[in-house]
Amino acid sequence: MSLRHRSLQRSSFLILAVVFVLWLCPLLGCQSSKPAAPSEVKAQTSSENAPSGPAPTSTQGMTAEPTGAPMHIDPARAMQYVKEFVGIGPRWVGSKGQEKASAYLRSKLKNDNLEEDAFVADTPAGKLAMKNLVAKFPGSNEGIIVLGTHIDTNYPLRDTNYAGANDGGSSTGLLLAIADQLRGKKLEGYSVWLAFLDGEEAIDKWTETDSLYGSKHLAAKWRQDGTIGNIKAFLLADMIGDKDLEIERDTNSTPWLEDLIYKAATRLSYQSHFFDSTDTMDDDHMPFARSSVPVADLIDFSYGYNNAYHHTTEDTLNKLSPRSLQITGDVILETIRLLNANASHLSSTAPKTSS
Ligand SMILES: [Zn+2]
Repeated sequence: MSLRHRSLQRSSFLILAVVFVLWLCPLLGCQSSKPAAPSEVKAQTSSENAPSGPAPTSTQGMTAEPTGAPMHIDPARAMQYVKEFVGIGPRWVGSKGQEKASAYLRSKLKNDNLEEDAFVADTPAGKLAMKNLVAKFPGSNEGIIVLGTHIDTNYPLRDTNYAGANDGGSSTGLLLAIADQLRGKKLEGYSVWLAFLDGEEAIDKWTETDSLYGSKHLAAKWRQDGTIGNIKAFLLADMIGDKDLEIERDTNSTPWLEDLIYKAATRLSYQSHFFDSTDTMDDDHMPFARSSVPVADLIDFSYGYNNAYHHTTEDTLNKLSPRSLQITGDVILETIRLLNANASHLSSTAPKTSS
């Protein structure tokens, strides 16, 4: 994935900045120019893209607790899937690996209800064929929770041995491990659909038009056939395999859904891995956010010091851990249980017809 702007620094920097300004103010004689509190900054930066509509605006009232035991993924199998998927080789759009990656996913999901969304995208490199895959696990209640991952590797690095182990690989293996937990059961609650998205990466340089090809196409398709109004939440996973797992709060995600994820993490005692810092992420959740779907991007954008491994040949399997896959996977499954427990608070989303 890529992001265009990092609007907020780590909270420790914010605290330092506040202390510094408070110290400076008496010297400069400034009056009421206090720096915006983190929540104010968040509100400013997120208002532009925040989903609107009749969906809830906060977790107020969402106090119901799930019954029964939490669900868990098998971390060793998740890691095995990541290794197999990354072992295919580079999976950039137009490569042999793209075909192989698709075939691998279809073989793993062959007994699941699989929707294929093949299309040709106009890109700076001309027309390129791409294919999203969606595995559908039916639930007892009307409404769908979509989990997303991107499957492609960075296109500009196609002439290197760039592996995309964390970026694209980790979340794809994780979703296969989540499929293992959903398969063969009558899900009590919403249906869960797993979206394996092609063409997330820019072909030339990240812009509004040169990025997110797969998620844009799938969101448009689901707007057209009416599916989008049935989606209660879209949870995206990206770069979640890093041994040093620090998932950021994202100002482009839906605040109440982020709060629910934090509650799920807290219920499992994993909250120390969540939301210590805040970023503004441009990722596969955005086309759904623009259609009023509640969205959340679970992403760790501090991959190596200063995110140094991101989009480099350093993005390799040895940087990942099964434990990080487990933490993210279990929190996603617990978030699904929380969404189901509080279903009465989740009104249907009103699809936007534009964009
Ligand atoms: Zn990327």
